[in-house]
Formats: sequence, C-alpha cells, structure tokens
Amino acid sequence: MSNKVNNFLRDDIDSLKEYKIVDSKGMIKLDAMENPFDLDLNFEITGLSSGSSNLNRYPDANCESLRKKLRAKYKIGKDHNIIFGNGSDELIQLICLAFLKSKNTVLAPSPSFSMYEKISRVLGLKFKNVSLKNDFSLDLSLMLKKIAEFNPAIIFLAYPNNPTGNLWSKKDILEIINKSNGVVVIDEAYGAFSGQSFVTEINKYENLVIMKTLSKIGFAGIRLGYLFGENSLINNINKLRLPFNINSVSQKISDLSFENNEYIDEQIKDLIKLKDKLTNQMKDISKVKVYESKTNFVLFKILDKSANDVFNYLISCNILIKNISSSPGLENCLRVTVGSEQENNLFIQSLKKSLI
Ligand code: PMP
Repeated sequence: MSNKVNNFLRDDIDSLKEYKIVDSKGMIKLDAMENPFDLDLNFEITGLSSGSSNLNRYPDANCESLRKKLRAKYKIGKDHNIIFGNGSDELIQLICLAFLKSKNTVLAPSPSFSMYEKISRVLGLKFKNVSLKNDFSLDLSLMLKKIAEFNPAIIFLAYPNNPTGNLWSKKDILEIINKSNGVVVIDEAYGAFSGQSFVTEINKYENLVIMKTLSKIGFAGIRLGYLFGENSLINNINKLRLPFNINSVSQKISDLSFENNEYIDEQIKDLIKLKDKLTNQMKDISKVKVYESKTNFVLFKILDKSANDVFNYLISCNILIKNISSSPGLENCLRVTVGSEQENNLFIQSLKKSLI
C-alpha cells in the first residue's frame, strides 16, 4: 500500500537512487581508497568527557583549534578562510547550495568523481560533462569551448582524478581558472599521494577554492573535509552550512592527526611504494591494461574477458574492489585500492586466477 505522504514527495523521487555501499563484512576491502594501516592516535577517549570537547556540550561551531592548525600548515593568510565539512562530500553539497540558481550550470570532466553530478542534479542545477581524451588527460580546447558556451557557475576538477588516477596538466588547469567566470574547485582528495597542490595559487585567483579531506590518509571514519578560498567566497558558502556540522569527536581526532602526523607521512610513503609495486605486478599480467596512478588506487581494464566476471570472481575470493565497468568511458574497467602488502598479494593471486 502506498503511503499517503508519497504525493508530497519531489517529482523526480522515483528516478533517484541511493548511493549503494556494498556490504564488506569479512572481506578484504579494496574498494574505497581507505588507508589499510592502523592509526596511532595516542590519546584517551576519556579526554572527550572534559574541557573543550565535553560531550554534553555542542561542539565548537567554528572548529577554531583545527582552523588554527590548518592556517599554519597551509600558510593561509588573512585574506583567505577555511570551511569544514562532514567529509568533502558535504563541501561539494555546500558549494552547490551556495550557487543554486536556476540558470546556473556545473561542469566537470568525465569520467570523474560521480558525486559532482549526483549532488548538482539532486539540487536542481544543470550539469555538463566534458569528456577526457582517451588517455584520460584533459581536453583543454573542448573544456574552454564548453566554458565559453555554458559559462559554468562551478567547475569541479579532481587533482588527481578519481577514478582514472592521473594528474592533469597544471598549465591547462590554470588556463581553465583564468577563462572561468565561476568558481573552480580543485579537489585534492588524493593530494597527499601526488605530492602536488594548488593551495598557494589561491593567492592569485579569487575564483579558486581548494578542497581536501582526511578520508584517504587514514581517517575516513571521522568524516572531515576542508575548503580553502578567498574570504568573501568562503564566508558566503558558510552561510549554507548547518550549525555544528563537525562533531566533537571528529574535531578532537583531526586536531590530533595534525599534531602527531609523522607516522601518517610514513604510511603515505609506504602506500606510494605499495602502489608502484602493485602497478608493476599488474602490468605483468597480459590480459590487463593498467593506468598509471598518482593516488592510492589503480584503474585497470580487463582486455578479453568480462570485467563483471572478474569482479564476481574476486568477490568469491572475499576480495572487494570497485566495479566501474558500466560507467561511460570506463567500459570493462575496475578500480582497486592499494591495501597492505599481504592484501595486495592476495588480490594479485586472485586476479591472475580470474583471468585463466
Ligand atoms: N573527492 C574525490 C575525488 C573522492 O574520490 C572522494 C571520495 N571517494 C571525495 C571527494 C569524498 O571524500 P570524503 O567525503 O570522504 O571526504
């Protein structure tokens, strides 16, 4: 029986789909770009029942302690500000909310991170994809053509890109920023692995914002993303933020992650080495085409077998990777997150078996 409230639901509700997360219980989890290593938090949870992070109080609405640490770490001056999100997903949503006007278009290269399109469309913004070249590099002339045609309010550029793993030309991106009237969001979710960043460029371009997250470097569970940009732009986006969106536990743990970060830097270095090793092992498999990655994941194409069959075989071996083989431009492609050495070896063994 249909619920009487259904008549009030938005008209497009039947066409919307929830973001499905596969149940990964008991599996080797190589699907979501998490850090496979243990954290060295070195703090007591009881520290959360007293002082500024007392759990019976609302959290610090402005995340002042974190803000101070990030200002120092990234040398953010007084003309620029920071906004925090419950993961960078929430920041993407806040940016879209701030530029929510019926005429406005959001633009992003394709393939790229699916949430740019999903969030834009759910909010009713127009969305345009601009295809990458066959090698997944940016098609600069096509991008500039579409920018001139649609005058996008927002352009999302993942640097490095997910799910392709590559880093686009900095020169091309600067040209895009120069030619855009709207805001250009450089999403550096994987910046720790590429070692490249646009953060210092915010001093030169008032329409540039930089988004980062703790999710890929070991803290996916606390959901913390942050966005840097020019004061008035960040302050306007901040008007759309719900109060207290970053809870006390997340603030406390992210605070500590910036104090005690040597081991995180070591883990990142190890993950880069493991990614290089995994890439080389995969390149030795003849039925697989491997794409170079500047991230903690590797995109690969299955050459003469169905990627769905390979994915399902891996599931039968208790290994969960990401099946993106039905996404436009990624036909028969799969994406594996870099795990521990042992997890990667098990993945390689099973991948080889799946291709026999
Ligand atoms: N940007 C990119 C490019 C991503 O791949 C992801 C996560 N897959 C996100 C943003 C969102 O990250 P989070 O919400 O965990 O900060």
